Amino acid sequence: MSSLKSAFRATRLTATTFLIKEYDDVYAERPHIYAKIVPSADTILVVDMGCGGRSVDPDVEVTSLREFIETFPVQDNDGKALNPGGTMSYIIVTTHCHYDHILAIEQFAGSPILASSHSPEFLSPSALPHNTLCSSLGLELPQYTPTLVPHGFEIHTSEGTPTGVKVLHTPGHTPDELALYDETEKMLYVGDTLYEKERIIFPNEGSISIWFSSMDFMIDFVEKENRRIMGVPGGQSGEVLINAGHATSLRPALEVLNGAKAFLAEVVEGKELVKRKYVVRGEMNVEYDQESGQFSLRCPEKLVVEAQTQKVPSK
Ligand SMILES: [Zn+2]
Repeated sequence: MSSLKSAFRATRLTATTFLIKEYDDVYAERPHIYAKIVPSADTILVVDMGCGGRSVDPDVEVTSLREFIETFPVQDNDGKALNPGGTMSYIIVTTHCHYDHILAIEQFAGSPILASSHSPEFLSPSALPHNTLCSSLGLELPQYTPTLVPHGFEIHTSEGTPTGVKVLHTPGHTPDELALYDETEKMLYVGDTLYEKERIIFPNEGSISIWFSSMDFMIDFVEKENRRIMGVPGGQSGEVLINAGHATSLRPALEVLNGAKAFLAEVVEGKELVKRKYVVRGEMNVEYDQESGQFSLRCPEKLVVEAQTQKVPSK
C-alpha cells in the first residue's frame, strides 16, 4: 500500500461502483464522488467532482482527484488504483453546479462533462460564478463547459457504447439538479436533493414546491423499478438503492425518498418547529430538525412561505 496520505477515501459499493469521499475538506462538506467503471466501454463514469482536495490536514499529499483515481491503491479494488495510469476514458456528470461538486473539474479537461439542460440560463457563463456559490465564498470559478443533456438522456461513450446510466431532471435543490439511474446496478444517484443525518440545504435559488414535484417523480420511478425487479424471474435480488451527494449511500431508495418527502411536508404544513433562524447570503434562513434525527433542513424562509401558497402534497 502507498504510504502517501490522500484527501480521498474510496470504498466499493458494488461490483463496478466505488464511493470516493473527501472526508476532511476545509468546507466541512464531506462530499461524495461516485465512480462507476464500465469495462465494456473502457470508460469510468465519475459523478461529481468534490471540493478539489482542499483538506484541513496539512499532511495530506494526494489532493488531486485525478491523481487519486489513477495512482492511489484502493484496498477494496485489490490494492489497485481505480483507473490505473488513466487508461480508461472519463465521462463526468455534475449532479448540479454547486462549488462542492465541481472544484476538481479542471483536472478532467478534455473529457465530456454532462449537466442538466433543464435551465440553461442557470448554467450560463455569466450566471455560474453566482450560482456555483463560488463568488460568495471568494473562490475562483473552475473553467468548464458542460454539455447540457435532456431528461431521460442515456449516457453513451463517444464511440456510442452504452454505459447503462440515464439522466433524470430533478430540479428543486437548484434548477440544474439531476439524478442518475444505473439500471444494471439498480442505483439511484440524487446529488443534493436529499440526504440523511446531515442538513438538507436549499440555496436562495432553490424551490421546495418544485422539489416536491421531483420527489413525486422519483418515488413513482423507483416504485415502478422495484416492481420490475421483483417481476424478473430470479430478479428478487433487492430493491433500488439511493446514493446522495453527502452522507447517504446504499440505502433503500423508496424508504429514504418517502421519509424526506414526509418531513418536508410537515415543515410546509407548520407541524415542525423552527429550531434556529439566521441570515445566509442576505436571506433569512430557518432550520428544522426531525426528532428522530434522520432528516433536518436549512432553507431560506421565503421558500417555505412560497411552498405554503402552493398545494401541500399528499403524503
Ligand atoms: Zn448543492
